[in-house]
Amino acid sequence: MKRSGSEGKVGALVTQIRRTTWRVTIVKDMGVTRNISWSVTRSRTMADCPRQGFFEYYADGEAESYAAWNLKELVTLPMLAGEVVDIVISAALKKVAKREPLPTNMADVGARNFRKFVEASPKIIASMRENARTADARRRSPYRPLQSDWYGLDLGKDYEQRLEKQVADCLLNFEKSEVLGRILAVDPVNWGPFTRSMRTRPYFELDGTRAYTSFDFYFTEADTLFILDWKSGKASQRQREAADSQLSVYALYGVHELIIPEDHIQVQAIWLQEDVAWQPHEVTSPALRACEQRIRSEVAQEISLLKMNEANKNRVEYRADRADFPARPSGNKCAQCKYRELCPEGQVACSHIAGKADVGDR
Ligand code: SF4
Repeated sequence: MKRSGSEGKVGALVTQIRRTTWRVTIVKDMGVTRNISWSVTRSRTMADCPRQGFFEYYADGEAESYAAWNLKELVTLPMLAGEVVDIVISAALKKVAKREPLPTNMADVGARNFRKFVEASPKIIASMRENARTADARRRSPYRPLQSDWYGLDLGKDYEQRLEKQVADCLLNFEKSEVLGRILAVDPVNWGPFTRSMRTRPYFELDGTRAYTSFDFYFTEADTLFILDWKSGKASQRQREAADSQLSVYALYGVHELIIPEDHIQVQAIWLQEDVAWQPHEVTSPALRACEQRIRSEVAQEISLLKMNEANKNRVEYRADRADFPARPSGNKCAQCKYRELCPEGQVACSHIAGKADVGDR
């Protein structure tokens, strides 16, 4: 047992929340302020291209603020496929949590929803462009538009159909999986809350900084917490390594937010394109410490891109200037970047392939 506070059922422990004061505030023009945070996606974005990170996380208060806000909403087709899978599984488990029967047509529902989202995309984009002209208040559609539609890329009907089938296959695999059987064997009172949506994510705090997570589901059984993440993409070596890194962050959520001893936490990425066996595992203590260290050092690295504005005993304020976030253009990366409309360097880098490139994978 590595931490205190672990007596009794784990379910009772998940209500304990620890909060500390945020310490780093980013100040932008027009009085916009934002606190610095960390996530796996943010870490990847900042490492790939700090300028992309600026558009994603620091555009408030800039002249391009509204444009960046719109572009932030775009998704690739594979991302959309993954989100539809997440939504359908979550909706099905919510029914079970309300003591209703598990739906038996999840694959059909997923394929239908995927088509609906794809078909809605051009209309949403038209209305986003119209709103930009009329400076309408910022309102989000419940559907997320496609990056390919925004940039006028024709990815082909075959590609759409392949992803629609992928959605259906993933949900079919889930319906007959050992993982679902394992979940249903646990009383829903021991399931975690369904708080995750496309726009809200759970987080924990490390040294006063929010670290956002994006796991899909957790439950407790006896004295163990199980955290699961649905994966609709192919389980390549690169994707598995990325998933392992995410799982360490999810285990830290269990440690820091749910206050569970780390040797009572099991995690698993569920690769839904494959035969889905129940194989959760513990993240080792050295791996968790390394993950914490990585978060601290990446937050420090990001802060090093900011300019100190003001410091007092309660908080430190920084300013973010676009020029301090270098663009790192490269052909494929810029062709897949949703912010290239705002980025002259990226437009030059991908001009030779614009119109032909795929727009990213999940
Ligand atoms: S278009 Fe390229 S250089 Fe510009 S922000 Fe995106 S990835 Fe970075």
